[in-house]
Amino acid sequence: MEAEHKIISNNPVADGVPSPTKEVTMADARLVDAEEPEDHTYDYDLIVIGGGSGGLAAAKEAGRLGKKVALLDFVVPTPTGTTWGLGGTCVNVGCIPKKLMHQAALLGESLKDAQHYGWAVPDNVNHDWEKMVNAVQDHIGSLNWGYRVALREKNVNYLNAYGVFVDSHTLECTDRAKKVTRVTARRFLVATGGRPKYPDIPGDREFGITSDDFFSLPTPPGKTLVVGASYVALECAGFVRGLGYDTTVMVRSILLRGFDQQLANMIGQYMECHGIKFVRSAVPTKVEKLESGKLRVTFQQDGVEGVEEYDTVMWAIGREAETKKIGLDKAGVQVDRIGKIHTVMERTNVPHIYAIGDIIVDEPSQRSLELTPVAIKAGILLVRRLYAGSTQPMDYINVPTTVFTPIEYGAIGYSEEDAIAQFGEDNLEIYHSYFKPLEWTIAERDDNVCYAKLICDKRDSERVVGFHVLGPNAGEITQGFGTAMKAGATKSTFDATVGIHPTTAEEFTTLEVTKRSGVEAQKKGC
Ligand code: FAD
Ligand code: NDP
Repeated sequence: MEAEHKIISNNPVADGVPSPTKEVTMADARLVDAEEPEDHTYDYDLIVIGGGSGGLAAAKEAGRLGKKVALLDFVVPTPTGTTWGLGGTCVNVGCIPKKLMHQAALLGESLKDAQHYGWAVPDNVNHDWEKMVNAVQDHIGSLNWGYRVALREKNVNYLNAYGVFVDSHTLECTDRAKKVTRVTARRFLVATGGRPKYPDIPGDREFGITSDDFFSLPTPPGKTLVVGASYVALECAGFVRGLGYDTTVMVRSILLRGFDQQLANMIGQYMECHGIKFVRSAVPTKVEKLESGKLRVTFQQDGVEGVEEYDTVMWAIGREAETKKIGLDKAGVQVDRIGKIHTVMERTNVPHIYAIGDIIVDEPSQRSLELTPVAIKAGILLVRRLYAGSTQPMDYINVPTTVFTPIEYGAIGYSEEDAIAQFGEDNLEIYHSYFKPLEWTIAERDDNVCYAKLICDKRDSERVVGFHVLGPNAGEITQGFGTAMKAGATKSTFDATVGIHPTTAEEFTTLEVTKRSGVEAQKKGC
């Protein structure tokens, strides 16, 4: 259990060092199991367990390469009975509904802006929760269907069944009607993802919900408590408030652990200014349902007991890898204390069993990145190494990410805190600037809440080791600069880039003020 003692980051911004996977030799890069012959009598060449982001991508790629593939996907209902179709977390209860509801909230803000631009928008515009949920769920339904078709087109056999290993080549599959069958394969890919944790306090499962239930709530959430302070909590609290509901976030310690704390705190301030309440240094201890239907939450705050009533209580306190009930012990696959599988080039300790996505810790980089594009890319690259002679490893370093809070935060590489710890403060030059998007001026939105920061390694020609942007469309901006970071951009590369005017991203081509100088980085006008 050595891995438990290592520092494992589940946060892509806590990195930035050259990738250890780049050091892999060509021979290592063919790290596929050659212990058994490719000619075999198993039912399948490859069985993929889990039809989420990673599993679907890998299964389709293996099917495209002419392999005999089966993919199992089965959703165990939540404690309140919510279930969904093929596609996994991202499509059904993650990225997709989250981003659509984030957009619904942003549109509400745009309606206010629109008045300043001359549109006669009435003051009492209402939002229809049910209509939004139906539209979102309809879109998800079309995606579920699309995945089924795509699997069929790639000749992947889709089994809507829950898979459990009985030995390292055999899976027992239980379908919805509890019919049990067995299938065998030469190789397996475990891509079972994660499910939300519950705090294990009285009333948590009975009265609380998680992101697995939230996006299909048939009625408006009303006064909402979100417990947790990372991606899921802040994103959900952001759009719930944006849609007009009384929203409180209960924070145990800090916001967005692992991210640059200057920007994390700026997000907190922005959210507070936009009506979101924060209960800090607090943890819930009990949830009860009152006769009125309200949920009474008892919590401890700095050793003092507090009580408050809500209509909806949502746990957003992290996710648990779905690895504990799938017979990995029978197959000989080791997991760590929290259920993560430690892999080298997505290979587990059992040569013919591989794993990708939310359930893994990549040993060389010590990264455990719970992000859809990471699962997809790792799955596709693995299958190409297994079946198409590729030698390309997955690179878990400098993965761009964005937190879709009401003001979006995009990040690549080191946070300021981690960069100082890694390189030493004297070896860094940090360029920064506050800015106000042009579109916000007429709309009379706040000054100096948007922010750009580049952290540069002075000893390496000011190579950019940390990129941080807070502002509208940060996801779109960060994606582009992600390529620059992958290519090893330095501050002078950014300076040599001609801006696109008037945009917010151009801010990164004109950064001049260093933190060290102490010169005012706030802006007036644009
Ligand atoms: P999953 O997508 O979780 O798929 C695993 C599948 O396997 C599930 O369908 C599960 O039911 C099935 N399964 C489990 N066990 C078995 C079994 N024994 N037999 C058969 N089937 C089984 N990431 C981003 O990049 N951007 C975002 O904006 C983003 N937003 C998110 C918002 C929320 C609210 C959440 C919760 C997550 C978000 N994520 C986001 C993370 C992203 O959803 C995950 O990283 C991604 O889905 C992981 O893919 P995966 O293939 O590892 O697993
Ligand atoms: P995280 O593991 O990132 O964060 C968990 C949060 O819950 C922390 O703030 C933690 O506080 C708090 N917490 C943990 N246990 C308790 C408890 N018992 N009581 C109170 N608070 C508690 O989980 P998330 O669910 O937010 O996200 C999971 C992953 O999903 C992310 O790491 C991310 O990779 C992915 N994701 C990506 C998104 C994107 O790309 N935009 C969006 C959403 C999710 P503390 O700091 O004190 O430990």
